[in-house]
Amino acid sequence: MTAPFVIIGGDAAGMSAASKAKRDDPSRDVIVFEKGSWVSYAACGMPYYVKGTVDDLDDLVAMTPETAREERDIDLRTGHEVVSVDRDKQTVTVSRDDETFEQTYGELLLGTGARAIVPPFDGIDREGVFTLRDMDEAGEISDFVETTAPETAAIVGGGYIGIEMAEALTEHGIDVTIFEMLPRTLQPFGAETARTVEDHLREQGVDLRLETTVEGFTGVETVDAGDTVDAVEIEGDDEPVPADLVIVGVGVTPNVELAEHAGLELGPTGAIATDEFGRTSDDSIYAAGDCAEATNVVTGEPDHVPLALTANRAGRAIGATVAGKPTRTGGTAGTAIVKAFDLGAARTGILDPERAREAGFDPESVTIEVPTRPHYYPGATDLSITLVADRESERVLGASIVGRDGVKRIDTVATALHASLTVTELQNLDLAYAPPFSPVWDPVLTAAKVLG
Ligand code: FAD
Repeated sequence: MTAPFVIIGGDAAGMSAASKAKRDDPSRDVIVFEKGSWVSYAACGMPYYVKGTVDDLDDLVAMTPETAREERDIDLRTGHEVVSVDRDKQTVTVSRDDETFEQTYGELLLGTGARAIVPPFDGIDREGVFTLRDMDEAGEISDFVETTAPETAAIVGGGYIGIEMAEALTEHGIDVTIFEMLPRTLQPFGAETARTVEDHLREQGVDLRLETTVEGFTGVETVDAGDTVDAVEIEGDDEPVPADLVIVGVGVTPNVELAEHAGLELGPTGAIATDEFGRTSDDSIYAAGDCAEATNVVTGEPDHVPLALTANRAGRAIGATVAGKPTRTGGTAGTAIVKAFDLGAARTGILDPERAREAGFDPESVTIEVPTRPHYYPGATDLSITLVADRESERVLGASIVGRDGVKRIDTVATALHASLTVTELQNLDLAYAPPFSPVWDPVLTAAKVLG
């Protein structure tokens, strides 16, 4: 009898793999070990739960454990943590409550995800200081907001989660300050888009402090909640900034410890190295999602893009491969989109000139402002598009878009990147037009015309 397909991690990568493997080969035993109690949850929806747009944390669950077990016949075990992998014996050691046991595997998938980086700030353990990585934390933040009614909040880190949380907390009438140690927010989105978002954040009342390094958090003894945060201490500044609630959102690091201890190769980004089928340096072990690398479609180099579609797609492909239909996990263009109050910002490909040069390109770029509809049709707003291409080959390298409406046009550029289109080929795409939706030259085509 074939040993089971064992999966570590019951979220996007793990459960996509489990579902696909079971669908394609119902006779194969599939076991998922998940150390927490939530499975198949949409972490991406958590800021909107805190905001109040989503009523219930359970609404973020795509597939309940019961559906997985009863309808999909997946042997899903929550509260089970895999603590080691023995490649010679093809077993994993699993810890549950106070006992451990071994489980053999035929193929193994590491879908262990990533965790929030927690810098050693003074006072990081005070009540009211949170990271936002899992569903329990989302519940705790929401409860804290409800029970303590904070007046001020500090967000450490101006990445996309920090900005989504600024919107969520402002919705509760909380005065939000974002601290970012670099000269701008939203690093991967490029300078032009970041500046537009920053102006908008300030218009919305967010106190944005760039080039400001947080050192720690002071606290006060409260009757109900013990030693609770009350302010943020800033490097070189005598005056702490009041904060009744703190969200630390300074990035994530891939959970690679199991892989590392098992002697699997890590790639240049520090995530688990994989081939085009998601296989690690051991043929019977795969890795997918936030713990693994994927190939960047522009540079052809390994990249670490901890985003949901990358995880879902790689998991699904690995499920198919394990079920006997070898399937490539697909590359990543690093395509991402974020809502910042009334603005949307989106990005794809390589925007950073330095990174483009390191990959052997000679980047040139253009930034244009274009309306989203013809001048005579009501409701037009301006989009700002930055398009980057290689000077000599004309190959499109990346783009970012910011505006009130229509930023999902980034998908056109992402498609161009996957197809290695040149600026002229992008310009010649036959895109849809009617006045309620777009000008006759879609803004992406206009950007390509200007750059070409
Ligand atoms: P995870 O979701 O991290 O799941 C890994 C699972 O493995 C966890 O449940 C963990 O408990 C379990 N696990 C780890 N180690 C073990 C072990 N040893 N034994 C057993 N179980 C283990 N992406 C987007 O594309 N768009 C967005 O808008 C977006 N918004 C986000 C907002 C927030 C607040 C957060 C936190 C993330 C967001 N993401 C977004 C990222 C997206 O959620 C992740 O890319 C995705 O969840 C990755 O899935 P994964 O399965 O690789 O890892």
